[in-house]
Amino acid sequence: MSVRVRLAPSPTGTLHIGTARTAVFNWLYARHQGGSFLLRIEDTDKERSKPEFTQNILEGLQWLGIDWDEEPVIQSEQVEKHRAAIQTLLDQGLAYRCYANEEELDAMREAQKASNQAPRYDNRHRHLTPEQEAAFQAEGREAVIRFRIDDQAEIRWTDLVRGPMSWRGADLGGDMVVARRAPADQIGDPLYNLVVVVDDAAMAITHVIRGEDHIANTAKQLLLYQALDLPLPTFAHAPLILNGEGRKLSKRDGVTSINDFRSMGYTAEAIANYMTLLGWSVPEGMEERFTLQQAAEVFSFDRVNKAGARFDWDKLNWLNAQVLHELSPEALLNSLEPLWTEQGWTLPADQSWRLDLAELLGPSLTLLKDGIEQAAPFFNEPPLESDAQQQLSVDGACDALKALHAALEAEPWDGVDMARGQQLLGDAVKAAGVKKGVLMKTLRAALLGRLQGPDLMTTWGLLARLGCDRQRLSRCL
Ligand code: GLU
Repeated sequence: MSVRVRLAPSPTGTLHIGTARTAVFNWLYARHQGGSFLLRIEDTDKERSKPEFTQNILEGLQWLGIDWDEEPVIQSEQVEKHRAAIQTLLDQGLAYRCYANEEELDAMREAQKASNQAPRYDNRHRHLTPEQEAAFQAEGREAVIRFRIDDQAEIRWTDLVRGPMSWRGADLGGDMVVARRAPADQIGDPLYNLVVVVDDAAMAITHVIRGEDHIANTAKQLLLYQALDLPLPTFAHAPLILNGEGRKLSKRDGVTSINDFRSMGYTAEAIANYMTLLGWSVPEGMEERFTLQQAAEVFSFDRVNKAGARFDWDKLNWLNAQVLHELSPEALLNSLEPLWTEQGWTLPADQSWRLDLAELLGPSLTLLKDGIEQAAPFFNEPPLESDAQQQLSVDGACDALKALHAALEAEPWDGVDMARGQQLLGDAVKAAGVKKGVLMKTLRAALLGRLQGPDLMTTWGLLARLGCDRQRLSRCL
């Protein structure tokens, strides 16, 4: 039987990092098995679901390189199937109408609290007589529909990540609401656990892969599969993503949405790579920097950890740097140019100059946006930082710079003929009687206004090609 997995996001917010990681694990498993990866948009919460969030989720997945194999299923369009399943449960006596109102349920919970019992529904309307029902209806009460959960039930499954799992019916909080309150002749809006089971079965899902926070739902859903006589999928619960302090990563940690990472300048490749490492460890001999396709070749749940996955910014930064360093100058330039033009900078028309700049900066980038600060002195004359200023007063520094400037005045350097560039430096060093290192450092200070930066000869060459190297030297003399 061919593997069919799904991601079932609720479009009540932008693509969350936890959802993205679940998407990655589903996708990797599907691709490894030669199966299908499907989407289901769980938009049954009418108030909180928004089409723009669906759009954001789909775009975010595409951006990460995750493709899906069939048209996404829209959960709200399946409501007749959900209602039919609830009707089946009612017809078989496996579900019933519960007329308890909010005050009664609150009082029940208060009493449980007072006697130190765990809060649960006490199944009070499980065995109403037709007369009792009629009386509640005559009062004009609406009813929820509850699915019977036998306290004695033993629920077992073998989880692909966590191994043998068992759960007791008594620990599931009493008979479960499967449809919201509605007039007693109707079936109200069907609820999560029921609709997921009906939809997963209708989509012929073979493996349900989702976060560990759904384990208790899995126990409830298994009872519904049984009750509705549906074929059981296999379950895999991925570990939670934790923050640096070991608590579940939440909004308080600042970044939780894939959008946030995107606007911080992370590449899709690094994020997808990092998501995979949040809970999965590479087989021996495999590098931690990989593409999703490479991970799909070897992905299995044996290597998914049970323990929570701590979010590690250093590792993400390292991966992002790796990805940027692997880019061709063309690809890098494509990503950098929009950032440069956003700064209002006029870029030289010469494409090869722009490519050379991208190539020069590439190795020192961690985030793409580092390429703004590092490129700035190539587009605008930078002020001299204090350590650059100090360098100019080092013994012989100014003399060497003067000698170099004079040589350039006599004959400008084209910035391409590196042998001539080296010759010019050598001559200036000799004329001023300083060490070559002194002139190199001073030249960098004059050209970039700071003492750190990429390869000096290439830097100088690029500025010389724009014809602005002499001006930068002369301001320091
Ligand atoms: N809509 C649910 C969620 O986003 C889906 C959970 C599931 O995979 O069943 O948490």
